[in-house]
Amino acid sequence: MSQDVKSGKILSPSTPWTERGVPGIQVPDEQTSLKATFTEPTIECPECHALVTRTAMSFNAYVCPQCDEHLRMKARDRLNWFFDQVQTELGQEFKAKDPLKFVDSKPYPARMSEAQTKTGETEALVVMQGLLKGIPLVACAFEFDFMGGSMGTVVGDRFVQAAEKAIADKQPLICFAASGGAGMLSLMQMARTSAAIQKMKDAGLPYLVVLTHPVYGGVTASLAMLGDVHIAEPKAMIGFAGKRVIEQTVREKLEEPFQRAEYLLDHGVIDQIVHRHALRDTVYRIVAKLMNLS
Ligand SMILES: [Zn+2]
Repeated sequence: MSQDVKSGKILSPSTPWTERGVPGIQVPDEQTSLKATFTEPTIECPECHALVTRTAMSFNAYVCPQCDEHLRMKARDRLNWFFDQVQTELGQEFKAKDPLKFVDSKPYPARMSEAQTKTGETEALVVMQGLLKGIPLVACAFEFDFMGGSMGTVVGDRFVQAAEKAIADKQPLICFAASGGAGMLSLMQMARTSAAIQKMKDAGLPYLVVLTHPVYGGVTASLAMLGDVHIAEPKAMIGFAGKRVIEQTVREKLEEPFQRAEYLLDHGVIDQIVHRHALRDTVYRIVAKLMNLS
């Protein structure tokens, strides 16, 4: 019950029932469409708590139509939205194994299969090759809901393959970074992915990073901060360690905006904050310039 059928206005939980409408007392010819609207799944905006239908959110690239909050996008949705046309998906041959056999709160294979069921992905990084406004490029996106977007061996394999494919086809590489920072193997992957990015630079090809909320840990310490250009989405939290860990280490209270994209822009850590609706145009312009296409 999130959208007024006639006006299309988004309704919040505080909207009175008189404005929401009650199924059953509407004129008969509207009953069918009412039913369809009212049974559609909704997403609650974490910021303003408006209930928005999944379809409306998806059309708006998961930006809240009421308060402009940028909600998290699934990696696959993100790449399908980003490209005009996806030509191929890369790296699907790399699948998770259990090299450390460590036991956390749950054994690793159980956590892995739970993450796979939850997200429908086989790993925390999805890589695709396709066209952005006619420019062929490779792009990868972290799936945060897959064990917090942690950088394990398969993520490393897929990222390295993405860079190698970009080099072989002389195309730019774009990375949509998101990570909670956990990951037993990420130190090893930091070195591998950093070396792959260096090869991109040696080949004279652009590597752009889009920092989406949140980016922490090994991902920040390596591939997310090695781009030619760093773009962040509004209000994204970006850091290596979390606020509490740093406060405990330096024994000082830290101010609230610390680690927000806006604060990092003011301090020169990132280059630009771009609204999601302007992101495709911005990336296109930067890539066209760096590839001498415009
Ligand atoms: Zn909102």
